[in-house]
Amino acid sequence: MKALRRFTVRTHLPERLAALGPLIANLRWSWDPPTQDLFASVDPELWERFGQDPVRLLGEVRPARLDALAEDGEFLARLDAVAADLDYYLSRPRWYQQQEERGAALPTGIAYFSMEFGVSEVLPNYSGGLGILAGDHLKAASDLGLPLIGVGLLYRSGYFRQSLSADGWQTEHYPSYDPQGLPLKLLTESDGTAAIIGVEVPGGRTLDARVWIAQVGRVPLLLLDSDIVSNDEELRGVTDRLYGGDQDHRIKQEILAGIGGVRAVRAYTRIHGIPDPEVFHMNEGHAGFLGAERIRELVTTTGLDFDEALTAVRAGTVFTTHTPVPAGIDRFPIELVRHYFSGPNGENDSALLPGLTVDRILALGRETDPTVFNMAHLGLRLGQRCNGVSQLHGKVSRGMFEGLWPGFDTAEVPIGSVTNGVHAPTWAAREWIAFANRLAGPDRVEEARGWELLQTVDGSDLWDTRNTLRAQLVAEVRRRLRRSWLERGATEAELGWVDTVFDPDVLTVGFARRVPTYKRLTLMLRDPHRLRRLLLDHDRPVQLVVAGKSHPADDGGKALIQQVVRFADEHDVRHRIVFLPDYDMSMARYLYWGCDVWLNNPLRPLEACGTSGMKSALNGGLNLSIRDGWWDEMFDGENGWAIPTADGVDDTRRDDLEAAALYELLERSVLPRFYDRDSAGVPIRWIEMVRHTLEKLGPQVLASRMVRDYAVDYYTPAAQAARTVADDDYAGAKALAEYRHRVEAAWPAVRVAQVDSDGLPEFPEIGAQLTLTAHVHLGDLAPSDVQVQALIGRVGQDEILSATVAVPMQHTGADALGEVFTGDIALPLAGAVGYTVRVLPQHDLMASPAEFGIVALP
Ligand SMILES: *Cc1c(COP(=O)(O)O)cnc(C)c1O
Repeated sequence: MKALRRFTVRTHLPERLAALGPLIANLRWSWDPPTQDLFASVDPELWERFGQDPVRLLGEVRPARLDALAEDGEFLARLDAVAADLDYYLSRPRWYQQQEERGAALPTGIAYFSMEFGVSEVLPNYSGGLGILAGDHLKAASDLGLPLIGVGLLYRSGYFRQSLSADGWQTEHYPSYDPQGLPLKLLTESDGTAAIIGVEVPGGRTLDARVWIAQVGRVPLLLLDSDIVSNDEELRGVTDRLYGGDQDHRIKQEILAGIGGVRAVRAYTRIHGIPDPEVFHMNEGHAGFLGAERIRELVTTTGLDFDEALTAVRAGTVFTTHTPVPAGIDRFPIELVRHYFSGPNGENDSALLPGLTVDRILALGRETDPTVFNMAHLGLRLGQRCNGVSQLHGKVSRGMFEGLWPGFDTAEVPIGSVTNGVHAPTWAAREWIAFANRLAGPDRVEEARGWELLQTVDGSDLWDTRNTLRAQLVAEVRRRLRRSWLERGATEAELGWVDTVFDPDVLTVGFARRVPTYKRLTLMLRDPHRLRRLLLDHDRPVQLVVAGKSHPADDGGKALIQQVVRFADEHDVRHRIVFLPDYDMSMARYLYWGCDVWLNNPLRPLEACGTSGMKSALNGGLNLSIRDGWWDEMFDGENGWAIPTADGVDDTRRDDLEAAALYELLERSVLPRFYDRDSAGVPIRWIEMVRHTLEKLGPQVLASRMVRDYAVDYYTPAAQAARTVADDDYAGAKALAEYRHRVEAAWPAVRVAQVDSDGLPEFPEIGAQLTLTAHVHLGDLAPSDVQVQALIGRVGQDEILSATVAVPMQHTGADALGEVFTGDIALPLAGAVGYTVRVLPQHDLMASPAEFGIVALP
């Protein structure tokens, strides 16, 4: 008989073990080995059986065992030490507090919104890179002491779990998680009742949600859950699955995450008596409706009009885009958005956001196709500060979205970049953490210094550690492969061979990631004979571990997985290549620890950043990758290998060329280095690369570096801007909104009427002075409302300027031809040089002159 519903009953802890409660409730244990060891010693067998999940462990452990531990002096001493360490972690001043002491005007709070959070495998609320990144962001924010609150949804089934059919086809299942069995507590009002967040949905209904809190070190993560009795069946299902369902399902999720998310933050800060966040960070556009909700708040509580409120909201909003392809962007039919935001009879007054009109809301997400509402455009219009997730992706994003800033060069599009990072205590093996602690002192692990000092570790110690980690991976591969074959219908008796799959001394290459086409899971199979030769080479073999999930609706991806599985099933190679189903954090960790080489072969530039290779690097893994995402900026010639990319060649030939380059690198460079040993059996030249990777890449790939970049370059200016526009009853917001109106109304009349140059000798040399005089028509604007710039640069055959230098020009008067602006420029370069003049809006509260997307050129 199948249970209708499940729930979890928690054990009552003996008094003396009460400290276990807070240790389990705070996910900080998931990156703290001493706490993990303490949990393991409660019952080592149960700890492993339940996948190292302390909530389940405590649910299942025998009361007699707990009573015994309550008398066990050694256990109690460790318990007290670990509990004290957690208290210390939560209370001591961190980097952020030091900055505050030095007088930095940091935000008093930051709300970080994401549709998925991968904090730990015991809270399976993520699908892949985006979620893991969000989890790492919270952990690093906690380590650095940022006053950050995470906001997202709690999915009853998370993402799917993957297994394989006998013939290698992906099958999906959706276990149902019960919040009581997860490391969560309910957000409650002072009377103990659950805080309920409501958002209006069509049909006069309210979509209600309770709010679960996952405590991630110092950082609370608020997760909205619609599975409560006050909702009808349809609304209860809103938070059923991550990335499942149709557009209608998805927009409800995004409305709940964005609008409900802001309301959850308000409830949390009210109940806990802490300041409201000054900065709102959208991790991808999914939660973009949060900006509309904040506009509503301001319109209804302060009397600002829509544009003034929008100006105020923009100042404190940061938007991060993660998608380098238009097809990857979240878009809705405009009628669907209208349906959810309009009044009950389609009125323009929004029922969901009273006080706002639907037209204004829809305009925030408009794009060239008028039938579509674009969540990335929404993010770009709501965030005064925007960024991509690697330098290359920043550049790609500037090109992709340049249509929103017509008249500006791609390089001027105001989208910056912060390269992603990974949380070292989560992803580096404890062996490396122990080295770093020993060298730099504990408590500094997340700091770059610990990684830099790893260069002082003895070569043979580095090699021993690599061997230990590879051996652990081999054991894990065998365990998971056996389980997979049993699921595929094999019997134990047939599986003796699994015990000899993989060899702890063979060069191990890992390839694990989601399976969209651009990641090219099967590139390695392009020439199966050549791959087979590599795997089976007698003296210098390779072994290959592959993993990844395909989106349930993507049969193309599943066919790629099947292709790999079928190859790996072949008897002659099955001991050297495996496909492991159900890639998640618990598996990923072993791969990052144990693989010698991390392979990544996306179609450049479709990988926005990629983070798995960073996790491998933190463990001394060497990257073998196309120069895409993070690797494009961090490959230095000695920390791994760059697979040459045939960017621009058509796809089939490109795959052939890039696969050939990959085999070639393995045969000529990777393998010889790995198998070239000194008399003690140590691969000296390999270890030099490992050492260099740990020392040089280690500090750059840290999530603490990333979060500091956000704090300094984005959160702090955003908080500053938010304060400035809000001061004095939003005087700044009103002034900037009024200015924008005025400029937009006047702009059609603004133009550069005439430009004259003077002062150049007949044969000018570099550095010679050029005087430009421009006559400009400003319509109803005053000269102080604008900035006039001379632009000088190299000019190509098409007369297009490049390497342009902008020089501000001074207003010197007016005559019959218009306002006069002049400027002196020293010629910055030799060769074919050209110039032009442009007029830009100018206001102290603009973050960039391109912000409004308007400019006047001759
Ligand atoms: C790091 C990680 C990812 C993301 O890796 P990419 O390199 O961005 O593809 C996906 N899934 C898991 C489990 C991870 O740990």
